[in-house]
Amino acid sequence: MSENDLSHIVEADRAHVWHHLVQHRVFDARDPRIIVEGKGMSVWDQNGRQFLDALSGGVWTVNVGYGRESIANAVRDQLMKINYFAGSAGSIPGARFAERLISKMPGMSRVYYCNSGSEANEKAFKMVRQIAARRYGGKKHKILFRERDYHGTTITALSACGQPQRAEQYGPFTPGFVEVPHCLEYRKQWDVENYGERAADAIEEVILREGPDTVGAICLEPITAGGGVITPPEGYWQRVQEICRKYDVLLHIDEVVCGVGRTGKWFGYQNYGIEPDMVTMAKGVASGYAAIACLVTTEAVFDMFREDAADPMSYFRDISTFGGCTAGPAAALENMRIIEDEGLLENTQVMGARLMEGLQALKDKHAMVGDVRGAGLFAGAELVADRETREPLAEARVQAVIAACDAEGVLVGMTNRSLPGFNNTLCFSPALIATADDIDHILATVDGALTRVAAA
Ligand code: PMP
Repeated sequence: MSENDLSHIVEADRAHVWHHLVQHRVFDARDPRIIVEGKGMSVWDQNGRQFLDALSGGVWTVNVGYGRESIANAVRDQLMKINYFAGSAGSIPGARFAERLISKMPGMSRVYYCNSGSEANEKAFKMVRQIAARRYGGKKHKILFRERDYHGTTITALSACGQPQRAEQYGPFTPGFVEVPHCLEYRKQWDVENYGERAADAIEEVILREGPDTVGAICLEPITAGGGVITPPEGYWQRVQEICRKYDVLLHIDEVVCGVGRTGKWFGYQNYGIEPDMVTMAKGVASGYAAIACLVTTEAVFDMFREDAADPMSYFRDISTFGGCTAGPAAALENMRIIEDEGLLENTQVMGARLMEGLQALKDKHAMVGDVRGAGLFAGAELVADRETREPLAEARVQAVIAACDAEGVLVGMTNRSLPGFNNTLCFSPALIATADDIDHILATVDGALTRVAAA
């Protein structure tokens, strides 16, 4: 048996790989799935089984689909020229991608390269702290985050985590992070007509409680992803923006999931007319062809770090070793070209509407579907045990729906497996190249799975 023999690979994986997000005692009892190949919307496992991937690589990442030769070529060509150089030197793809990215983000100006969503968010938090230290004598250092939002896996990103079970047992946390209420109308916290404005007013209440002179920034997902695919209600974002301006609070938008086409706009915030001060992005930037994340700021934020050339403490004293990899921006540049030249934003809008219509029809048909939400090719269907009480469907039954889809060769997911209160929403984030047939196939498979689980 050779080292590359697939049965050997399976054993090596079982013996030595510590997988993400699994309880290995349960996981080890099953045959591991090794994904060996991908093309377009499909992936193949070690047994040659084909799956239609409605998740873009498990965690809404592979926006342009699998097997993109032009990205592989762009990366290869770049690596053979110069693969890496870090510190203050620039690179050709780094400069070109920054220029291209900023052209899609009116009002934004500077791109800071790093490797993961967590890292980009941490860097934004550091900027807020440094601005507080330099401009406000350290006072305006608090950072608000929202119940149900997620910003990454490091200890400080978990300090800004609105999903308590993710953070539990990893404390003590970084101080100075304060939670504001979520805005999911289906899980109402106020009985009012104008729910969006009310949910945003809750942010103002927190700012007033904490003291406006202590709050430096708020970090929000434009559409909460893992916390339940929460599209904000009408009026929410406009009010959030007003509140940020009123209290001089920087608005940091976490586009790690929504960024680069997922919602049918380049960025999720562009659906709502928001003018952010800082934007972080990762997954879709290079569709997983290379590890790259970006923190993008306005010129005003950038300016605060070059006010005093004589002061050695005045600039952003931060580095990311692999922020100097050129494969990331080379892949990102080609990824963006593909989205533009193939009209994938338009396709996402059209196919997203088809997906949402289909999910609405499933809601009409199946009592188990309590609410459907989403934008573009980013959608969620919240499953309930009881339509009236809205009691969440038990995780095991949500898992059964996913397993039934898997058995039919379609990969769908759920929000935050094993996190009670967050794990009852089915997720859909197919690649932006999805066709009408792909969408219809996904919907028909979910329809069958819901019927089977309801009958079981
Ligand atoms: N922000 C959001 C909204 C995310 O969904 C994630 C990852 N799922 C992150 C940040 C963290 O990104 P990464 O895993 O690349 O660190």
